Amino acid sequence: MPINTLPAYRIGIRLGLIWLVFLLLMTAYWLRLDSIHKDQLLEAEEHAQLRAKQAAHALSLQMHALLLNIDFVLEHLAEHWLDHDEKVFRKLIDLAQQGVFKGSLDLIAVTDKKGNVLFNSQAQNEYSPHQLSIANRDYFKQLTQQDEHRLFISSPIQNLVTGRWTIQFNYKLIVNGEFAGVIIAAVSAEHLSNAFKTVYPAEDDVVLLTLNNGQYLARTHAQEIALDKKVPSNREFIQFPNKLSGHYSVVAPIDGIERFYAWRRIPDFPVVLSLGLGKNKVLAPALKATQASKRQNLLGSILLTLAALWISRLIFIKAKQNRSLLQSQERFATLLNRVPSGVLLEDENNIIVTVNDNLCALLNLNVTPADLIGLHHQELLNMLQPDCVSWLPEPQFKPKQRQRNEVIDQAGRTLEIDWVPIKHHARFLGHVWFIQNITARKQKEQELLALATTDPLTGLHNRRSFIEFLQEQLNLSQANAPGALLLLDIDHFKHVNDTYGHPAGDLVIQHTAQVIRTSLRQNDFTGRLGGEEFAALLPHTTLPQALQLAERIREHIATTPIITATGTINITISIGVALLYGQDEESVREHADQALYNAKKSGRNCVRAAQYSMDAIST
Ligand code: GH3
Ligand code: MG
Ligand code: MG
Repeated sequence: MPINTLPAYRIGIRLGLIWLVFLLLMTAYWLRLDSIHKDQLLEAEEHAQLRAKQAAHALSLQMHALLLNIDFVLEHLAEHWLDHDEKVFRKLIDLAQQGVFKGSLDLIAVTDKKGNVLFNSQAQNEYSPHQLSIANRDYFKQLTQQDEHRLFISSPIQNLVTGRWTIQFNYKLIVNGEFAGVIIAAVSAEHLSNAFKTVYPAEDDVVLLTLNNGQYLARTHAQEIALDKKVPSNREFIQFPNKLSGHYSVVAPIDGIERFYAWRRIPDFPVVLSLGLGKNKVLAPALKATQASKRQNLLGSILLTLAALWISRLIFIKAKQNRSLLQSQERFATLLNRVPSGVLLEDENNIIVTVNDNLCALLNLNVTPADLIGLHHQELLNMLQPDCVSWLPEPQFKPKQRQRNEVIDQAGRTLEIDWVPIKHHARFLGHVWFIQNITARKQKEQELLALATTDPLTGLHNRRSFIEFLQEQLNLSQANAPGALLLLDIDHFKHVNDTYGHPAGDLVIQHTAQVIRTSLRQNDFTGRLGGEEFAALLPHTTLPQALQLAERIREHIATTPIITATGTINITISIGVALLYGQDEESVREHADQALYNAKKSGRNCVRAAQYSMDAIST
């Protein structure tokens, strides 16, 4: 999986941008939500206005019917009054009280044209004219000035004794086209208010009955405070006398409650019916719903923000982990490419996981390590030259221990191939091949071996190497054909040194070694045992053959003068010969030494065989 290699500040910038977008979206969402809530409230308001309008309409129709009835009753009462038909007049009052007024009628009074009360229904059966006069009452004055012959409704009047408020319905008496007085019906304002209350009992809602000029006639609540007052003059029905209905929303000064009002003029009468629905009550369900929605959305937003914070934290942690993973991968890659070996790491399914440059070079592959990662081991084998395929056999049975092989390639390089299994708690996780070019090391080893076994002055095998070889040959000769050992010692060599100097002595030693080597066969093994003493091992050689060879060497030495800086030197050599017959190495050398001693004793410059060798020949 590719690792996110973005530096910390760029991850910070990206996260910052994501957060900015997130916050913008969140803000947009909340603005939209707020607008929806406002729409919902507006809709609830409109709905309330509609309800208020419809109810006001219904109530105004009822009110209209009532006023028409009162008008009708007063018209008939006036007729019977003018007919002086007092009995029928009283009967009609009783009927009206039970019918139209439903017990709300406080009194029926009649005055003459000057305002003197001629009849008062509260004065029992007593008929006491001129006891009272309403001539000074404002409404009477207004009535007399009014030309129209229709029901006149005056401001409510409070009975000073009972404290009860009544609405005065006045009807002009006309005799022969002349104003002849007024008939008054005082109706209980409370009764009207109670009638409205049966429909709208709650204090949040209110039903008002006012005159066109805003004078209260009845109010469902706080009527006592309202009845001697007018509604504020800025109300629609006062401002626009021609408008028949309307609605508005205000805080009522009487009780401080905000309401949605719908009003309607009662046809034919100067009366307005208003219905106010308490705003808080009307909007309560919608407000409750929007508040619940706000709470839920707030919770959702908080959860979303917490989730976003958590994800941001995870991204930061992941980025940090990626950075440290990348750093360790870089360290590992550096290490991998500094390792002198080729490294090939595969997982448990033989899929290549890691390769370094050295491996590609050692396997003569013209690809980069990246090209190999992810390939199956068999695919790698298909890319190799035929002679390399056997170096990396696909491990069918995963061995428990590492394996090491050495191979020599076509270019003569020696490669060491190490196979190491990777295990974790006995579980096989894969394996790694290390391939190392050990050609130089091998050469060095061979050089060291040569140094350790060769005499530096003559290039012959040194004493230790010769004796080891002799030992090996003796072991072999027990089973195979015999051979012979020659011990050769320069005669009076001390004299050479003394006469011609040590360097000349060295030349003599080198010359002698050269003669011995060139006189022998390829398979023969020569060595310098020390000083001016040499040895030769002749495998598969009989005594006569050995003696003949020794004689040839002796003669060659004796007849070849050596030219040195200090003079020409003639030397001779004595040679002892012993056959190899399965004895131990020391005993063979002793015999050969004995033979050499005999040669020296016999006057030097001669060849002698060990006695037992002679015996062996003769038997
Ligand atoms: P003999 O005929 O009995 O063998 O007499 P010899 O003089 O050869 O006797 P010996 O074997 O005792 O003397 C060997 C001498 O070889 C003694 C030593 O100084 C000399 N020698 C040993 N190694 C070297 C060497 O590497 N170079 C030279 N120049 N002389 C050496
Ligand atoms: Mg000697
Ligand atoms: Mg000697």
